[in-house]
Amino acid sequence: MLCDHCHNEEAIVHIRGLDQSGNVRSLSLCAACALQEIMMGTEQADELLATFREAALLNPDDIMKILQAAMGGKHPALPPELVEAQKECCPGCGQSRADFHRTHLLGCGKCLEFLQQDICDHLGGKELNFFDTLHSLDSTSRKYTAKVIPQESIRNLNARISTAVAAEQYEQASLLKEQLDDMLAQLSGKSDPVPRKGWGSMVVRDEFALPEQTVANLPWLPKKKTGGPLVQLASFVSLNRNLQIYELPPFGKNLSQSEELCQLLSPLLSAEPLLGSPSEFDPHKMSKKERLELLERTLCPPDFLFRNHSCRLFLSRNERVTCLLNNIDHLSLHAWGSPQDLPLMFHQFGQFHERLSNKISFLDDLKIGYVTRNIFQCGSGMKFGLLLHLPCLIFMDRLPGITNACSDLGFLLRPLHRNGRNVLGGVVILETANGQCVPGDKIAPLLSLAEKINEHELSSRDQVRQDFSQRALLTDMIGRAVGNLRGMRLLEQNEAQHLLSMLWLGCELEMLPWLSLGQIMQKITELAAVPAIMYGQENDSERKLQMQYFLARRFRHDLAGLRDED
Ligand SMILES: [Zn+2]
Ligand SMILES: [Zn+2]
Repeated sequence: MLCDHCHNEEAIVHIRGLDQSGNVRSLSLCAACALQEIMMGTEQADELLATFREAALLNPDDIMKILQAAMGGKHPALPPELVEAQKECCPGCGQSRADFHRTHLLGCGKCLEFLQQDICDHLGGKELNFFDTLHSLDSTSRKYTAKVIPQESIRNLNARISTAVAAEQYEQASLLKEQLDDMLAQLSGKSDPVPRKGWGSMVVRDEFALPEQTVANLPWLPKKKTGGPLVQLASFVSLNRNLQIYELPPFGKNLSQSEELCQLLSPLLSAEPLLGSPSEFDPHKMSKKERLELLERTLCPPDFLFRNHSCRLFLSRNERVTCLLNNIDHLSLHAWGSPQDLPLMFHQFGQFHERLSNKISFLDDLKIGYVTRNIFQCGSGMKFGLLLHLPCLIFMDRLPGITNACSDLGFLLRPLHRNGRNVLGGVVILETANGQCVPGDKIAPLLSLAEKINEHELSSRDQVRQDFSQRALLTDMIGRAVGNLRGMRLLEQNEAQHLLSMLWLGCELEMLPWLSLGQIMQKITELAAVPAIMYGQENDSERKLQMQYFLARRFRHDLAGLRDED
């Protein structure tokens, strides 16, 4: 089983307990995360961990002993300010400051005030004065001058229905239910005429799809052949919102609100042109197998499929746009497109926000803007960026420098896959650092930064071609990747990421004429399904070996054209 925090390392510490609402919760952590948990994410933990690493002490047994010593009897001596942090809890939800420092998630609306200083520190240390939600999006959305909160009457009706049912006044309840249905129908009915050509209904043609392929390639893989190297792969936009009046996920003692919220938003989203007549999935009504199929297609995080409260997934027909209800926030909208599509997608997100905010009131705060549970999205509630394939810059160890340069410009550069601190594969994400900005102002700088990094990757490839020792090192690395591919009998996921990135680079450097990018993309897609296939069997070492054996055979057969001889 993988660690619940980093999802990278094998979990060795398993904790079970009851949460505030009496639900059984379990937490599985790897040694490093467990240690960090104990030290509560302080710098000390990093230091301690670094010491362990250097001493090559990362043997789980040894760490376990240290952990047991730390947990049993003697409490580790915490710095006084952290003892305080552990004691101080939000009056609204009971989350401690220490918890917040680990997750960066708000537990409830009151957290904003309670954690004011900590939030400011995380968002660049500046005093937060005023966030202008009115001008934060490329839209003409108007705030309600008279404070009318449309969902308030729906909330009230729902509460009255529950009371009537509890008092066995069924006639009364059914009358109220009729009122509620009318209200919901009205809400989804009176929409203005809207353009039908939303992002979710555009037809996507994938020029890299192989003729025999039955599963569509991942939405972030490039779809159009350019003839040149593919460095800028895709762009994405995401928008998170919470509604006023409703409790934030995971809904604490008010679990029933989660279903109410789904029923309120469902008709609005189904009619939303951006989502282009979406399919709606309700995990609670699906078998485990059906849920894991969604995970296989990487349409939602694993946690989302197994929550206590109600949630929904809306998926556009072209599978480029998804909307999750009650995941981290009440609503999270996400869309993929090609790099050039970013401005258009952004524009449609602005319209989406505008249409919805005419019907329901989103949770906002004068100082911080739209409130999302992840504080780095508070403000505009938006995040957007690009996926880049930078194998040569990574090979030349230039990623740290570029990451720093991006951060100076207010953008975040991070690997898509990582193992601890090591970058896995060559794909990185370049994205906005936080929501405290006017997002429209960030688009042009982001695109030009991505363009510069693109040029940088290409010029580093030229440098390698012209420099004997660099060329020898790189051709050796790619050659070994091919050698591994031919001889492998077991293939582990991390190695597979690296292998595919090397083969991709080899293809683009015209070193591997027998291999096409389409074959590589198909394998990247296949690899993304492995966590779903292995879900719940992560601890079964025989099953793991079978999976690795199966992967190696697929790779050998499909990429190297080798027949099975065993
Ligand atoms: Zn971990
Ligand atoms: Zn709180």
